[in-house]
Formats: sequence, structure tokens, C-alpha cells
Amino acid sequence: MMTFQQQLDKYPQAQIREQVLSATPQQIDQALRRPRLSMEDFACLLSPQISDVQLELIASRAHSITKQRFGRTILLYAPLYLSNECHNGCKYCGFSADNHLYRKTLSLAEIEREAKLLRAEGFRHMLLLTGEAPEAAGIEYLESAVHTVKTHCGSVSLEVFPMETDGYKRMVAAGVDGLTLYQETYDPELYRELHPYGPKSDYSYRLQAPERAGEAGLRRIGVGSLLGLGDCLTDVFYSGLHALYLARRFWRTQVTISFPRMRPAEGGFQPNSIVTDRQLTQFICALRLLIPDAGLILSTRESSELRDNLLPLGITQMSAGSCTSPGGYGDDDNDGEQFAINDHRTPAEMAEILQARGYDPVWKDWDSAFLNKAC
Ligand code: SF4
Repeated sequence: MMTFQQQLDKYPQAQIREQVLSATPQQIDQALRRPRLSMEDFACLLSPQISDVQLELIASRAHSITKQRFGRTILLYAPLYLSNECHNGCKYCGFSADNHLYRKTLSLAEIEREAKLLRAEGFRHMLLLTGEAPEAAGIEYLESAVHTVKTHCGSVSLEVFPMETDGYKRMVAAGVDGLTLYQETYDPELYRELHPYGPKSDYSYRLQAPERAGEAGLRRIGVGSLLGLGDCLTDVFYSGLHALYLARRFWRTQVTISFPRMRPAEGGFQPNSIVTDRQLTQFICALRLLIPDAGLILSTRESSELRDNLLPLGITQMSAGSCTSPGGYGDDDNDGEQFAINDHRTPAEMAEILQARGYDPVWKDWDSAFLNKAC
């Protein structure tokens, strides 16, 4: 099977942008009627020319598909930041090595304290995050962190630096179920500008990481781009292409897609483009139609009002009560956070709101039970 890079090369950025921008109302209508979208149909559904009526239609189809595939359930998870030390100079990130902030890597005792606090809130699904500083938080550190956290929750995912296949195999052996790895932007030139130094400046190494994770047997892999960094139309197109590629190549693995929009962070980076609420809604619905079985994730970067409104349109996983600094759940002071969150409701409030809207908040990843793993 061809690599994702080879597949990407078949969809040049200028051509895709032109395809999205030149979609006619008739082409959008045709795409909306197809039982399964081609990549050309998907491009049409990302068009800024989409009318309100067409947007309502796409939203209604996204709602029905999600209900049919996932029922009325939302998996709740919590991010647990282990370290904000980082050797990369990503221009948009609060943890960039250029920023002067309080740096911290949690000890195992501190990790346990955070995991216990999250468990007490109800969480059984935790996402562990680090920057990229292997001497402070490398593979061995992550193995120990995963063992510690696994004693308090059923499912652990990672959002950390990209690894070789052997590194991912070690993570699977330690008990990791899932991996999230955003390409940030699929535009290689812009990527070079935004990642001027550090290991993350290697675009290809990062692009190939989800395939290495799939080969290692991770059973959930998440991709996405940071909306606002570059041209959101092509970045969402490529995120969909990437997810579809992984879903076909690693058919036992569940693929998830996130669509984080830029939030204020230390360093004051200004987004290159603004993704409106209407556009974000359109993107989520188009992705649902492209990959009916993909998990779609919405974090606390978004406001409570928007999260509530997007609920029925395809979202399957949400974070709640999040803190984006290492040790932030146990400490009062949130020095050294990665970005500011926008939905400040507690996990209990979030669960209540979901129930009031007819959804079951799911705290536990039931797949683990089938694999006879601890929970
Ligand atoms: S985005 Fe990740 S790699 Fe880049 S500076 Fe932030 S933590 Fe480091």
C-alpha cells in the first residue's frame, strides 16, 4: 500500500484550494446526495459558498449518521499534562522554548496525585501530554507515567513527541490505547516557517508518525490540524484524507479527528486566518459524512455555548474541566499553561448538561473490558 505522503502528493494544495473555492451550488447539492463521499465531494462540502439551506442539510445528515453509528453517547476524557519542557520553537505554542515560563516535569508521586484527582471527578479515560524534551520526559519516563496512571483509570492515550515504531510498541506494552498527533498544518512551507528549530522542524518525520503508531498496534489514532495556522480549507481537506488513509490501512484501529482552533497563548502569536463558528460547524459535518465511523473530538478550547450547539452534529468525545499546565489539577496556581481554555464547566456540570440533552456521558472506555485490561 502507498504511504500517506505518496497519497498526499496526488492532491496538490493549489488544486485542492481551487476545487473548494470553485464548487458550484449544483456540485454541493450532488455531494450532499451521495451515500458515500469521494474526496472531490468532500472538497465541495468545504466550500465557503455553501448556503444556509445546504448547511442545514449537511448538519441533518451528520446528526443521523452519528446517531446511527454511536447512539447518544459522548466519551468524556481529561488531559493530564506531565511536562511543559520543550526544545522546539513552535511559534504558536505557549510551551515554545522561546517563551520564559515556569518549566516543570511531574514526578511519579505528582502524576499519581493528579490521576487520583481526575478519577475522583469520574474520569476513567486520560490523555497524557508532554512537550519534547527526552532527557526530562522521554520514553522510559512515559512508561512509568502510564503504569502509574493505569492504576487509576481504564484507558490512557498520549499526545506527545513522535516516536519510532519500537517506541510506540513500548507504549502499547505499557498499556497505552490511543495516540493523538496533529500535523498542525499540512502545508510544508508554512510548517517550516512555524517550526524554525528543534526536532519538530522535520515535517516528514511527523507526517509518518501515525503510520508508525498503526504498525505498532495502537488501537486508536487521532489526527488533525491547528485551525488558524494556515489555509483552513486545505488543512481540513488533508486532515480528512489522512484519517481516511489510516482507517483503510489499519482497519482494526479507530481513527479520530480533532479540529482545534487557535487560542491565546504565551508568546502572543496571531492566527493567520480566523475560522468562524459557522465554518467550524461545516467542517465537522463534512468530516462526519466523509468518515462515518471516525471519532470526532471537541476540547475545552471552544466556548460552552458552541460546544453545546455542536453536540448533536457528529461529536463523539469531549474533554471537561481541563487544565493545560503540569500539576494544574492539584495546584491553585496555573503557571506554565499551554493555552487558555474557553469552557470552564466542571466535569459534573458537563455530565449533567449532556444528560439534560438526552446524551449518556461515558466515563469509561468499554473496549478495554473486551481486552481484559485493568480498569
Ligand atoms: S507544540 Fe508541542 S512541540 Fe511545539 S512548543 Fe508546544 S509543546 Fe513543544
